[in-house]
Amino acid sequence: MIRYPFLDLKDTVISQRDEIIAAVTRVIDSGRFIGGDECAAFEKALSRYASPHCVGVSNGLDALRLIFRALIELGRLGVGDKVIIPANTFIASVLAVTDVGLTPVLVEPDPLTMNLDLTAVDAALDADPAIRAVMPVHLYGRAAGTAAWADRMRRRGIIVVEDNAQALGATTADQQYTGSLGDASAFSFYPTKNIGALGDAGAVSTPDADLATMVRILANYGSDFRYHNIVCGYNCRLDPIQAAILNVKLTGLAAETQRRRTLADIYSQNIKNEYITLPSPDPGAVWHQYVIRTADRDSLTRYLDDNGVGWGIHYAIPPHRQPCYAASLGHRHLPITDSLAAGILSLPVGQTTTADDALQIAQILNSYQP
Ligand SMILES: *Cc1c(COP(=O)(O)O)cnc(C)c1O
Repeated sequence: MIRYPFLDLKDTVISQRDEIIAAVTRVIDSGRFIGGDECAAFEKALSRYASPHCVGVSNGLDALRLIFRALIELGRLGVGDKVIIPANTFIASVLAVTDVGLTPVLVEPDPLTMNLDLTAVDAALDADPAIRAVMPVHLYGRAAGTAAWADRMRRRGIIVVEDNAQALGATTADQQYTGSLGDASAFSFYPTKNIGALGDAGAVSTPDADLATMVRILANYGSDFRYHNIVCGYNCRLDPIQAAILNVKLTGLAAETQRRRTLADIYSQNIKNEYITLPSPDPGAVWHQYVIRTADRDSLTRYLDDNGVGWGIHYAIPPHRQPCYAASLGHRHLPITDSLAAGILSLPVGQTTTADDALQIAQILNSYQP
């Protein structure tokens, strides 16, 4: 029996249920079912944790696709240009790049932070002048790189597009919010994210007004004014019902981050087992996942199942091992990524995981032997 569930999405609304219902009712009664005040208010609220220009969109994958399409439309990237992506990311980071006709260059992570190895990024850039952009993915809610690093990339002529789907509210070592470092950033509000909608939702942020305008146009059929289309666009708008829900949820971001940091601290201070590697400390992380590593994961998951502890794996099959990329990326030699994928395991940090649960889970882990 599961005593400590990994995540139950019903729990993601309990602390703000009445406000969420009131917000949805407001939209229902307004008759405004596309765009409108809730979407505008959400974009303004998000900009506190992002770059100044925010555009609400349909989901995180679309946010990334729209950024790259907009960069192409504005002539800053050309079809076929190369983009560095961490090899150990969620598939959407890579899908966005290949979907718009750009070429992914997979770079290995630093096994300690599990984020892009910035030395390997420099080496890739030195080796291949055709690389035009880099996508730091702030995986598991911790910053990949710093504001100073992003500035250095830009001075080198490299466009920086952040995948901030997992890290809303996280800060870098130089005290900037992830999602405010680059030329543009993508956000996801998929229900499992730290701030989740009750359905799909996403956003783009950028310090660049022209880029924001092009993203907004592309997300609305490529239309600059009604029934006038300057580019071949999509329908990737943010739903106002989701915007209204997110306006409520964003007010809880600080509390949600604190809750996750408390659980992560308990795990980090109390799990002591030679067969388990803990994530390296990071005071700016928002712990979208708390990811441990172990050599014999099957034996650990069996043990956790036997002891009623829920777990997850993010992600068991890296993009270059996916059937959809077998022909294009399957030949890449990425031993660090492969070895991380084989040993990672995410512990519960869900809304009903209490501090006491985390302590119990740590004690259960301490008695584990492969
Ligand atoms: C969730 C996620 C996405 C995609 O967001 P969706 O809203 O699910 O489309 C992209 N990148 C990363 C790293 C993610 O975790």
